[in-house]
Amino acid sequence: MPELPEVETVKNALAPHLEGQFIKSISFYTERLRQFLDVDLFNKAFSGKQITRLKRRSKYLIFEFDHQKWILSHLGMTGSWRLCPAREERKKHEHISILLEDGKDLRYCDPRRFGEFRIISAPTNRDNDPQALAHLGPEPFDEAYSQAYLWNLSRNKTKPVKNFIMDPKTVCGIGNIYASETLFRCGVSPLRKAQKLKKKDCLNLVVESQKVLKSAIAAGGTTIIDFQAPDGSEGWFHQELNVYGRTGEKCHVCDKLIKRVVQAGRSSFYCPGCQK
Ligand SMILES: [Zn+2]
Repeated sequence: MPELPEVETVKNALAPHLEGQFIKSISFYTERLRQFLDVDLFNKAFSGKQITRLKRRSKYLIFEFDHQKWILSHLGMTGSWRLCPAREERKKHEHISILLEDGKDLRYCDPRRFGEFRIISAPTNRDNDPQALAHLGPEPFDEAYSQAYLWNLSRNKTKPVKNFIMDPKTVCGIGNIYASETLFRCGVSPLRKAQKLKKKDCLNLVVESQKVLKSAIAAGGTTIIDFQAPDGSEGWFHQELNVYGRTGEKCHVCDKLIKRVVQAGRSSFYCPGCQK
């Protein structure tokens, strides 16, 4: 599943090609992704309109325009965007085509079709979140995501710390891989209750999650999640993984064997020697 670093990579690759471009037309080759796709509604709102900015918030891509309607895109489990010449033949599972005025075509491919592509209302103040995303907590690189913030928020939370830091209401974009890797670096077991975090743990969580995400963004995301950047290159973050996907292998630090548990339906990986 594409996580924050993958979506950031997509945004960084596409933004220079899209910002300032005018949309000629939008076509759909499926009736629905997560929502029903109304081709007339989209063309009425966006044909002839200029994309002013492509932004990432959490795992969403936001296509901003100079009027009251914006587009929200979420890659779901298997979604990807790519830019190609308009004459290029459409590939299997390419469900959306956005024809641009410069003759390029922005294509959305999504074999499992869990992605989102929908019209949202722009906020009155363009630097604020649109209403559709008002439920999200801070971005991992915001000042608001701090030791004090995590400490206060975790005091009455009895859920495991892994689920706590993966909750987008706590902080956005710490997906499954990054949560396991961050907790390893902090020496915190994914099973520990969030309210049992010490102040020092909260600081470590902020610092280490930022480091993990930064190196993943620099590497262009991980490949184990079936992700390809829009230029076709593959990320190589998987080479740096300490616990994720390493069940039964030796810990790089203490030689104990890495364990796997399932939490909230997702696999967690940890070292019973290094993480308490
Ligand atoms: Zn260990």
